[in-house]
Amino acid sequence: MERWQRTLQKSMTSLGELSERFSVEVEALCEVTKRFPMRVSPYYAGLIERSGDPIWLQCIPDPRELFEGDFTEDPLDEEGLSPVPGLIHRYPNRVVLIVSSTCATFCRFCMRKRYVGCRSTGQDRHFLRDAMAYLEGAVEVRDVILSGGDPLLLSDDELDEILSNLRKIRHVEILRIGTRVPVTLPERITPRLCRMLKKHHPLYVNTHFNHPREITAQSSRACDRLADAGIPLGNQTVLLKGVNDDPLVMRELMQRLLTIRVRPYYIHHLDRVRGTAHFRTSFQEGLKIMEALRGYASGMAVPYYVVDLPGGKGKVPLLPDYVKRVGQTYCFRNYRGEEIAYQDMISVP
Ligand SMILES: *Cc1c(COP(=O)(O)O)cnc(C)c1O
Ligand code: SF4
Repeated sequence: MERWQRTLQKSMTSLGELSERFSVEVEALCEVTKRFPMRVSPYYAGLIERSGDPIWLQCIPDPRELFEGDFTEDPLDEEGLSPVPGLIHRYPNRVVLIVSSTCATFCRFCMRKRYVGCRSTGQDRHFLRDAMAYLEGAVEVRDVILSGGDPLLLSDDELDEILSNLRKIRHVEILRIGTRVPVTLPERITPRLCRMLKKHHPLYVNTHFNHPREITAQSSRACDRLADAGIPLGNQTVLLKGVNDDPLVMRELMQRLLTIRVRPYYIHHLDRVRGTAHFRTSFQEGLKIMEALRGYASGMAVPYYVVDLPGGKGKVPLLPDYVKRVGQTYCFRNYRGEEIAYQDMISVP
């Protein structure tokens, strides 16, 4: 067993352990953790400064998770878009392959809350053979995104085998891994892992920082190691009430990601997943954040703000209205709020 696997075994998973460390009302949480399990890695728990802070909110169970409203378990209909279990084929030329159903820390806002931490590893493996067979026949697929759960919770050898098998499929050009391990279990990013990943280029890693306090010496080092292995690093942030729904916090996060060689890729509007309603913000708040980034942060620090449409209709970027069209004239609003007219086409004799 590797060192990171032993560390993971020391995660906080029971309400008993939680109440030993922090003062919480455990009774109110029993039902919550029965439904949605808890796991907080020792490292991530160490980032908590006080109860209710942005780190706490992301990983400590909350009674409000039991609120159902008209929220469903799978609003994006990922199950319906799965030709074989564990493979989500929504867009013509790229697919999501679920290779793990567990994570180093279970995020309370997770869009895959319906199964993260609830399934056994045996079940995950069984899915994989069918998924590979499907991909061999799906000649239009050029981009495979490994997701979960967290793909980096597999052992180096298991992951190497999956990546090697994907590399044997001629029409698959690009591999991507979505992982929160640099944020929640940075010691998992070992030199051995990076040497293995490097064999499978072109390989991209998208990680998942949500708050500037998650950028630490340890998580920076994890990103350094990946970047030094030639892996382009992107970041997907989820817009979360009480965590990062503040233009200044978000600006700091995006700017600091660039300093650790991570390029902000998406800010996701929260999906309507059961158990996450207390994290919701309005689109208006998201748009305000985008306005605070454009022109004020490095252009490279400005990601797309996207909403994933219900029913698996796809991601759509949300933009502040910077452009108005009046006949042949476009009126642009710049970052300072000035309106500037710009004629579209002039006829050249
Ligand atoms: C987000 C997503 C992708 C990848 O979309 P990109 O915009 O290429 O990053 C692919 N498939 C599914 C099902 C997705 O949710
Ligand atoms: S790391 Fe990702 S998949 Fe895992 S619990 Fe967090 S949001 Fe969900």
